Amino acid sequence: MYDFICSIINEIRSYFVPEQIIYEVTGECKKCGKCCNYMYSIDTYTEKEFKIMQFLFPTYRRFYIKGKDDEGNLVFACKLVTSDGKCSVYDKRPQMCRKYPAKRILYPAKLHDGCGYKVNIKTFEDYLKNSET
Ligand code: SF4
Ligand code: SF4
Repeated sequence: MYDFICSIINEIRSYFVPEQIIYEVTGECKKCGKCCNYMYSIDTYTEKEFKIMQFLFPTYRRFYIKGKDDEGNLVFACKLVTSDGKCSVYDKRPQMCRKYPAKRILYPAKLHDGCGYKVNIKTFEDYLKNSET
């Protein structure tokens, strides 16, 4: 329960507080739809928690529990992805989709095989390079 309360607080904070770890995101989306059809949530560990998150945050209502992975973690999918992997509400997709894979987040996205993006943590040397140019 403690973890779940922290998740709700973190969800609310994410709207106001910039996260501190910055990743470098390169590449581009190939529009394969894998990330809309198979996703994890860092906020919800049980079906009951997911229902509460859907109640509190309407954006979550587009997602459903697809199953569990080999380790028992919930796997989600979006009801709004088309059969050919496109977003049916592309112009109105939520921030979490627009930002994916996020540059500022506590944990980097673990990308699907074949995803057009690459995510690397920015090193201190990267900052030095940028400040020299
Ligand atoms: S998995 Fe990667 S390439 Fe495929 S739709 Fe998602 S972001 Fe785009
Ligand atoms: S709203 Fe669109 S981009 Fe976001 S998960 Fe659903 S189908 Fe994918």
